[in-house]
Amino acid sequence: MTFSCSGIGVTPGIAIGNAHLLQRGLIEVSPRFVPFNQIANEIDRYRQAVASARRSLSTVEKKIPRSTWSEIASFIDTHLLMLADAALSEVPIDFIREQNCAAEWALQLQRDALVKVFDAMDDPYLRSRKDDVDHVITHIQKFLLQKKKGEDSADLQGRIIIAQDLAPADTILLKHQGVAGFVTEGGGPMSHTAILARGLGIPALVGVHHATQILRQGERLIVDGKQGTLLATDEKSILDHYRNLIRKSEQRATSLLMLIKKPAITLDGETAQLMANIELPEDIEATRSLSADGVGLYRTEYLFMNRSGTPDEEEQFTAYSQAVEGLNGLPITIRTLDLGADKRLDNCSQESTTCNPALGLRAIRLCLKEPKLFRPHLRAILRATALGPVKIMIPMLSNLQEVYQIKAMLQETKESLTRDGLDYADNICVGGMIEVPAAALAADAFARELDFLSIGTNDLVQYTLAIDRIDDEVNYLYDPLHPSVLRLIQMVIDAGKRHNIPISMCGEMAGDPRYIPLLLGMGLREFSMQPGSLLEVKRVVRSLDAASLAKQVGRMMRNIDKPNALDALSLICNQY
Ligand code: PEP
Ligand code: MG
Repeated sequence: MTFSCSGIGVTPGIAIGNAHLLQRGLIEVSPRFVPFNQIANEIDRYRQAVASARRSLSTVEKKIPRSTWSEIASFIDTHLLMLADAALSEVPIDFIREQNCAAEWALQLQRDALVKVFDAMDDPYLRSRKDDVDHVITHIQKFLLQKKKGEDSADLQGRIIIAQDLAPADTILLKHQGVAGFVTEGGGPMSHTAILARGLGIPALVGVHHATQILRQGERLIVDGKQGTLLATDEKSILDHYRNLIRKSEQRATSLLMLIKKPAITLDGETAQLMANIELPEDIEATRSLSADGVGLYRTEYLFMNRSGTPDEEEQFTAYSQAVEGLNGLPITIRTLDLGADKRLDNCSQESTTCNPALGLRAIRLCLKEPKLFRPHLRAILRATALGPVKIMIPMLSNLQEVYQIKAMLQETKESLTRDGLDYADNICVGGMIEVPAAALAADAFARELDFLSIGTNDLVQYTLAIDRIDDEVNYLYDPLHPSVLRLIQMVIDAGKRHNIPISMCGEMAGDPRYIPLLLGMGLREFSMQPGSLLEVKRVVRSLDAASLAKQVGRMMRNIDKPNALDALSLICNQY
């Protein structure tokens, strides 16, 4: 029997694999037992995970502002008490000792037992505390998983992950586990989770409502990221059809490899810079193997996720040096921390205190407010500038005041490095991301103060159209081709020309072949994208005539409010 449902495709590929259901962000744990000689080790792992969970909750507690203290603090207190209770600190250890369970499985057994007790309670309030149990257990499981990434790989290899939602931090954990695909009930195609899936080239669907309830653990699934469909089937003819499509797309990918050494030049001789977006230093390998012109966006915040504390200056410096040196002289743009909204720290209080995270204390706003977090970060980036061509990029600028503050902090940081006898480059380029409409409207002012600008369309579209990029309910409104968005993009490109500074784009739009003719016609020449999109974009660039596109796009933009603007726009986009 075949069952199908639809969602929003985030990676245009097909995956076939068995379902692996995650519940409430917690990886559903299968029974696993360990030999007698590993029991002490499992007990130790369990104790360490509980200790890490306790440390991380205590850190959150300390960070909560006094004004919100009572309610949230009591919530965290409850969780800390639960962690200390024998039900979580001792009983799972008994299971490990007496039944040879692996730590995760012991915790899962105890969870099931506790949930039964809560479900049987008459008092609805007490019954609802089951959620707290789940929350605390999820927290411990995360630390357990973190500790044994390597061992887990085999379990998830080739599986299709089904979840209500995946935080970017979860996705990073799954990143190296060889999963074949992702399906989430919520989320939008521009959420960071979707971006990560795309970066991995993993077929993924978001917005598949009730997926975790409809699908069963282990059943055979087909994810079609291009059509946005999910099939649960064992029918040979259907499976053969999709296997055939996979073979064809592999052949296409192989034929694109011929472009690796070819330049990204249009038919009329205009050169485009094609750069890579990376999340972790290990992504450098893909960047180099595809002959990207460098890294146009290094999202440093991923180093801060899935851990109980923040990395210190030395650890950050090691990561940034690895990226810079790995590029062997190619340029790299390191973006300062863009934490906040859906990219949260495990031990950060934002989640509990902010009601509208995307509009809240995010990115540069958070950094300027938390010098203890920001100073070591800036020191580490500045030290990395001594090792290769590094540019520094500031996310989420909305106000020139932020630029002045950053410049002052950079100056102070340089002075502190000089005092400590540590090197950094002279004349470091400092640029900003234009992803808030206010910054796009004031692009001239930012272009005057900064060495380069990069358009972050993922957020620019979200903020211009007032749609949360992770909310699938409003996703149908997410439109990079909305006239208001196109106008803002054009304003930024034109401001760059007037002030003679480079303008790049590092949002997902820059890596989508459909938008390349339009963006080239608008005058954009620097594109930064997921490494997996580089060759396809290069193919499109090489097939286009920039001068003729400039005329077509100019005409379309002048008439963008007229009734036939949409036809002109699709004619341009269809040239890819
Ligand atoms: C963007 O907003 O377009 C961008 C590149 O930043 P991020 O996706 O990391 O928010
Ligand atoms: Mg952004």
